[in-house]
Amino acid sequence: MLIRIKPLYSLVQFIFLYLLAGTLSAAVDKDSAVIRSIYSEALTSRIAYHNLVLLCRKAPGRLSGSPQLNTAIQLTKQFLQEAGADTVYLQPVQIPNWKPGYTEAIVAAGNRKVHLHALPLGNSVPTPAEGITASVVEVHSFDELNALGREKVSGRIVFYNRPMDPTLINTFAAYGKAVDQRVAGASKAAALGAVAVLVRSLTLACDTFPHTGQLRYQEGITKIPALAIATCDADSLSLWLKQNTDLQAFIKTSCRPAGDTVGYNVIGEIRGKKPAEGIMVAGGHLDAWYNSPGAHDDGAGCIQAVEVIRLFHSLGIRPVHTIRAVLFMDEEITQTGGKKYAQVASAEKENHLIAIESDRGGLLPIGFTFDCNEKDLEILQKLKSYFEPYRTDLFIKGGSGTDVAPLRSSARILAGLLTDSQRYFDYHHSANDTPEHVNQRELQLGSAAIASLFYLMDRRF
Ligand SMILES: [Zn+2]
Repeated sequence: MLIRIKPLYSLVQFIFLYLLAGTLSAAVDKDSAVIRSIYSEALTSRIAYHNLVLLCRKAPGRLSGSPQLNTAIQLTKQFLQEAGADTVYLQPVQIPNWKPGYTEAIVAAGNRKVHLHALPLGNSVPTPAEGITASVVEVHSFDELNALGREKVSGRIVFYNRPMDPTLINTFAAYGKAVDQRVAGASKAAALGAVAVLVRSLTLACDTFPHTGQLRYQEGITKIPALAIATCDADSLSLWLKQNTDLQAFIKTSCRPAGDTVGYNVIGEIRGKKPAEGIMVAGGHLDAWYNSPGAHDDGAGCIQAVEVIRLFHSLGIRPVHTIRAVLFMDEEITQTGGKKYAQVASAEKENHLIAIESDRGGLLPIGFTFDCNEKDLEILQKLKSYFEPYRTDLFIKGGSGTDVAPLRSSARILAGLLTDSQRYFDYHHSANDTPEHVNQRELQLGSAAIASLFYLMDRRF
C-alpha cells in the first residue's frame, strides 16, 4: 500500500535533515581543521627533533642499569615539563643490570688474523679471562645443528648464519623468522657441548655493525657466551670456513650480570576535563642497547609521546580524557617497565581507553594496528578518512607494542604506530641507530598521527 506523506510534514522533515546534515558536516570540517592544525604545528616545530638529538647525544647506550639511563630519565622528565604536562612523575621499577664489558673476536683466515666486528648479546655470560679458542662450525637452523649432533658440535664455537629473508616485504616478519638464532641459539648449542656461539647480526644490510639484542638461556643448560657479528663479517667467515673447515676463532668477553637495580618509568599527563572517562596513553621505551644511541629504537617513540602532550598543550586543545605519555623502562631485556605500569594501573583501578606504542622507528608512518573488539574497530575504521590526506590510513586489526601489551586485560584498545619498515633493521640495536638517520618530517608525521588519533577518539568515545 502506498503511504502518502503530508506535504507540510515532508517540508519540516526536509528542513530538519538539512540542518542535521549541516551540523554534521560542520563537525567533520571542524575536526579536519583541528587535525590540519595539529599537523601544521608538528611539521613547523623543531622541538621534538632537537629533543631527540639531545637524548641520543647525552644518553647514548642507555641500557637498564647504566648511568646513561638515569640521565635519560632526568632529561625526558624535563622534556615533559617543558611540553606543558600538568603532572610529571617517576614510577619506580626493578630493572636488570647487565654490563657489556670488553669484547674481542679474532679468526685465523689463512695466515692472517682478522678481528671481527663483534659484541656480546644481552644477558650473555663472559668467557674465562683468558678467552676461548676453538674451531668454528657453521649452521643455518636448529635442525641442521641437531643433525650434526654432539660429535661434531662439542668443544666448538657454533656460528649461526641464517640471514633475514630479503624477499619478505614486512621486515618485522623477516626479523621474526631469524631471531630464534639470537634468542635460543646459545642454549641449543650448549646442549650439544658447544663452548660459545657467534650469531649473524639481524639486519638486511651488509654492514660492519654488530646488531646486538637479548638472548635467553634455557633452564638447566650450561650458559655459554654469545656474540653478534656484523653481516659482512658473517659472509666472510662463511667463505673462510669453506676454504678451511678447521678454522680457529678466539673470543673473549667480560660482559656480566650485576644484580637488579631501580629505574623509573617517566610519566607526564594532561588531565582531562572528565578524567573518569579514561586515559589515553602514548608510549615508547626509554632504554636502548649499550652500543647504540637508540634514535629509532626507541628514542623516536619516546619523543613522539612527549610531542603528543606538547601538541595538545600548545594548540590549547583541552581533552575530555586524560592524555598521558609513558616512557617505559627495560623493554630490551625483561620488559619490567610495561609490566610495572600495568600492575599499578590495575591496583589504582585506572581506566584506559587506549594505549598506543610507537616502537617501529621514527620512520614514515603509514597507519595503525589496533587490538580491540569488533565494535570499537568499526568506530575506529570510520576515522580512517581523516588520515587519508596524511597517508597514514592503513588501519590493521591486531598488534600493539611490547610495553603496552601487559595492559590487555584492562585497556579497552591497544594500538601501535605502523611505519614503513624497509630501513628499520639497518639501524636496529646497532651503533648505526643515530639521530642523523631519523628524518625530522617523518618523526613529526608520527607525532601528529598519534595526536590526531587521540583528538578524534576523545570526541568519539
Ligand atoms: Zn624498541
